[in-house]
Amino acid sequence: MSLEQSLRQRANDQCELCSSPDSLSAYLLPPDTNARVDNSVLLCGTCLEQVNGAELQQNHWRCLNDSMWNSEPAVQVLAYRMLQRLSSETWAQDLLEMLYLDEDTQKWADRGLVDLNAEPTLDANGAQLAAGDNVVLVKDLDVKGANFTAKRGTAVRGISLSDNPKHIEGRVNGQRIVIIAEYVKKS
Ligand SMILES: [Zn+2]
Repeated sequence: MSLEQSLRQRANDQCELCSSPDSLSAYLLPPDTNARVDNSVLLCGTCLEQVNGAELQQNHWRCLNDSMWNSEPAVQVLAYRMLQRLSSETWAQDLLEMLYLDEDTQKWADRGLVDLNAEPTLDANGAQLAAGDNVVLVKDLDVKGANFTAKRGTAVRGISLSDNPKHIEGRVNGQRIVIIAEYVKKS
């Protein structure tokens, strides 16, 4: 039986993250290079595209609410990694707190995150940002939950990077906030 056939059998011909039956194919979890049934996940076209780096559609990923409880470690690992990518969303943080991985599965899941962290964080001009950089906001930002607007031109000193390469963190008006990296430029 081919790898894809075995995965289809395990997954009942459905995407293992969102249950869609469309355009199914096998996804090998990085950093492994040798595909086997136990390190691969059957994905639909929509999931595959976003897992591979296309912009995340928040609502699509609500499916992780169910699929993170899958008994296959490979599916748990992928659900965990996707939740990490979505972790600027409160619902994703809540799911991450609930998700329990056994020790080996957790190590496996984190091994792939190193690769995600290697993706550079870029500012509005495409310049790479590093922890400790000083930046300036290039547009007004409504700060969710803090009830103020950080004005364009505001300096943010000594930023930190986050797990998500699209986000940085910095102190504005005395509060630590998450800022979208492409809304700042290095100063
Ligand atoms: Zn899917």
